[in-house]
Amino acid sequence: MSNEADNTPIQNAIAAACSTDLPEAIKIMATNNDVDTDTLEEELRQQVKFMEMVWVDAKAGGQLYKTMYSGVTYEQIISAGRPGTHAEVLAVNEVIKALKEAGKFHSAEDLKKISVMAKEGDLNLARCVHCFYLLQGVKTVGFD
Ligand SMILES: [Zn+2]
Repeated sequence: MSNEADNTPIQNAIAAACSTDLPEAIKIMATNNDVDTDTLEEELRQQVKFMEMVWVDAKAGGQLYKTMYSGVTYEQIISAGRPGTHAEVLAVNEVIKALKEAGKFHSAEDLKKISVMAKEGDLNLARCVHCFYLLQGVKTVGFD
């Protein structure tokens, strides 16, 4: 099954993210391809905008991705779907918000305080190329 508008495979992934700097344990979000990436926290949003530009360029036959990412294939870029919409990004975004409310998130450097795990059914999901770049610093549980 795919989303006709952008050829994004629809996932039934869920992700959980947490930080030892937060009293409450965990946040869980399902993937939502309709997510409005403009509502993501600034530290993620800035990179998402950039990745979206590269992704749109690739879909239009452009070669920008070859310059911007090393060793990434056209298939990897396209199958990753729209940047910033995957469950692990949404879960991390919720933890960033909670850390900010607690006064414990000051810059992208603080992404190191966050751990995330994404699953689809019984499988631990490896990061797609977008999440790989977007969530640098965030610890991935179950892979690495
Ligand atoms: Zn992803």
